[in-house]
Amino acid sequence: MAETPVGIWFVGARGGVAATATVGLAALKQGLLGTAGLVSELPAFAGLGLAEWTRFVVGGHEIRGVSLPEEAARLMRESHTFDRELFEQCRAELERIDGRIRPGTLEKSGPTIAGFADLDLPRDKSPRHAVERLKQDLAEFVESEGLGHVVVVCVASTEPVAEPTDVPLRWTELEPLLESAGKCPLPASSLYAVAALESGHSFVNFTPSLGSNSPALDELARACGTRHMGCDGKTGETLMKSVLAPMFARRNLQVMSWVGHNIFGNIDSRVLDDPVSKRAKVTSKDHLVGEILGYRPQTLVSIERIESLGDWKTAWDHVHFRGFLDTPMTLQFTWQGCDSVLAAPLVLDLVRLTELAYRRDHVGLMPFLASFFKSPVGVDEHRFDRQFAMLEEWALGG
Ligand code: NAD
Repeated sequence: MAETPVGIWFVGARGGVAATATVGLAALKQGLLGTAGLVSELPAFAGLGLAEWTRFVVGGHEIRGVSLPEEAARLMRESHTFDRELFEQCRAELERIDGRIRPGTLEKSGPTIAGFADLDLPRDKSPRHAVERLKQDLAEFVESEGLGHVVVVCVASTEPVAEPTDVPLRWTELEPLLESAGKCPLPASSLYAVAALESGHSFVNFTPSLGSNSPALDELARACGTRHMGCDGKTGETLMKSVLAPMFARRNLQVMSWVGHNIFGNIDSRVLDDPVSKRAKVTSKDHLVGEILGYRPQTLVSIERIESLGDWKTAWDHVHFRGFLDTPMTLQFTWQGCDSVLAAPLVLDLVRLTELAYRRDHVGLMPFLASFFKSPVGVDEHRFDRQFAMLEEWALGG
């Protein structure tokens, strides 16, 4: 008997990360791709009983009307990360998925993101009405595709900074505020999280936006017997920091300053050009070095939009450190990666591991997924090797 299909619901379903993950999944289902970049395909996780790629069905929410095949074709033309033959082999699947994409919500997303919205979005009377509409979309997805469980993954644009401290600590205090847009502190990413959790589905936040990152939403997840994790995928420069900073610490090489300049030109960079969204991203990228070293060297993270680079990000890092005899020395590295190609396999891994957590009846935060995130909620450990060991321990412990 065929196994029950598993849903992947992308919030931001026509964006660069979602489109690349969707093309990748369609190709994996047809056996057209190798396993490079996929953590869940490592030998350490063989034998875990992770769901086969063929079991996943994709749908999602969006605010832009461009079709998924059009967006994938644009990535192909501009980023050259997959060829036309692969695109054509996936096109029919992309068209089917596009038919399952529903209009999302823009609650507290700010004017820059709202400026991208060209879909006719429903006018929800209150955040609670928006949540109920999003839940209805999820329920229809489950019904029409005969799904057992859905993993909702937020890969939408980075929202303006929302402080978790602005959100009441208890769900019982927060829930009544959803009745009034004026009183509710939750941005769209958190409304998607509420919709997923109240529906009994899992929620993963790949963005720096607030999402489920508040004690009240954790309480909701536990009350609903479901699970969540975030935030902000760790894919490039910050991944390097979480590998290199422990080396400086263990050799007692004292870091005096760590400067990282990032340049790229995709749609995400247009959002991050807005200072309020940029602050959310810079904060997420900047805290880690001091937390790993145990002291705070001078740090600087810059993110600048250089349109011609498209999805290809260059990060140049300059690390000034002091060794024996107080001698100053320097490490410099440049990281040149295609943002969506780095992120997409991790998104698929997160879905697969979260689905396993669902079958293992895991409830609440999923700290064993920390190695995937720049700011893993509820986890103080930022050293990549230690975080990866947490994942291996969880995998073996099941
Ligand atoms: P993108 O701009 O290409 O895609 C974002 C998509 O979200 C767009 O299609 C946009 O229309 C949609 N969207 C925006 N607000 C929405 C809302 N309220 N509801 C539904 N859809 C909405 O960006 P991307 O490059 O795909 O990155 C997606 C997210 O992942 C960003 O927040 C980014 O910071 C984060 N992220 C990306 C990487 C990476 O690419 N390497 C790493 C870590 C985190």
